[in-house]
Amino acid sequence: MKLTESLIELEEKLNAILAEVRNLKMHIYALEEENERLRAKLYEERAQGNAFDNLSRLYDEGFHVCPPHFARARKAGNDCLFCISFLQKERKQNNK
Ligand SMILES: [Zn+2]
Repeated sequence: MKLTESLIELEEKLNAILAEVRNLKMHIYALEEENERLRAKLYEERAQGNAFDNLSRLYDEGFHVCPPHFARARKAGNDCLFCISFLQKERKQNNK
């Protein structure tokens, strides 16, 4: 009897965890969708207009513009050396 009660209790806990996993799964799915949309938008913006201005703006808004991490969020307040050297290169090409 005691064991049955324990098993029922365990089953309830597992069901609760499963419900939470399902919730998280939906949340992550929504985030991934949003991420895809934002990335597509960034690529689109990168393709139009003054490339250097767009890239500088993206960098200032907190996104990587360097090829290895392009369009990923930068850690707040951390400059990326790849991005900085990439922007310097772009600026030189722009001023030609
Ligand atoms: Zn970077």
